[in-house]
Amino acid sequence: MKRIIVNDPAKPAALLNSVLKYSAGIGLAEVGYRSFPALSSLPQLRRTVWPYFLGTGSSSSVALTFDDGPDPKSTPLFIEELDRLGVKATFFVLGEMAERYPYSLRELVSAGHEIALHGNWHRNHLFRSARSIRYDMERSYATVSEIAAAAPIFFRPPYGVITRPTLATASQLGLRSVLWGTWGRDWRKLATPSSVMKDLKSNFAPGCTVLLHDSDCTSYPGSYRATLAALPDLAELCAQNGLKLGPLANHGF
Ligand SMILES: [Zn+2]
Repeated sequence: MKRIIVNDPAKPAALLNSVLKYSAGIGLAEVGYRSFPALSSLPQLRRTVWPYFLGTGSSSSVALTFDDGPDPKSTPLFIEELDRLGVKATFFVLGEMAERYPYSLRELVSAGHEIALHGNWHRNHLFRSARSIRYDMERSYATVSEIAAAAPIFFRPPYGVITRPTLATASQLGLRSVLWGTWGRDWRKLATPSSVMKDLKSNFAPGCTVLLHDSDCTSYPGSYRATLAALPDLAELCAQNGLKLGPLANHGF
């Protein structure tokens, strides 16, 4: 059996053990470089095999995360609504979007939200070379760090696909890779505020990390409106359960 090389900064042994345990459990002949990304993109396996990557934190909190911004069309609406709700969140931004709209990124920082990386371009790591992945991540790290005037701590690859070069580069940059525990499937044409909440609730639990999108740059045009309208219900759900909704930085990692 090939061994996965794990270079992520925290809990590498636990991660490797989980992968090996899973591979034994289902009788896979090999869990290695080739199968790693495919496994990481399957929701059921991500839940059972990789709690480390799911962003599971303190049982008294829920982490709120947004991908694909900053977007001047929609991100300011999220800043406004989150401010109204008294909630801070983590925004996994694209370097390409930050370069194009640096003022939108600075607005997020000024509003007190946490900035994390989603890569420079929204491209799946699965079939990309190590060199291409490294260039993408290093470029986004440099761009976002400079504009935000702070070094990001967390990284989430596009489509949640993690490969060995993804982990190696994250380690070099001192980034922790975080996927999600539940999502609102808010990128879809048919997404509504109630469908977003229904999908979120399907895997909602104390300590989970929620994935939503503050931009439709890779989603159905205007889909962010359903996300935005669902935020009060999400805040209410957390309040009813005594859970503190906030950024990954406050999630008890
Ligand atoms: Zn994305």
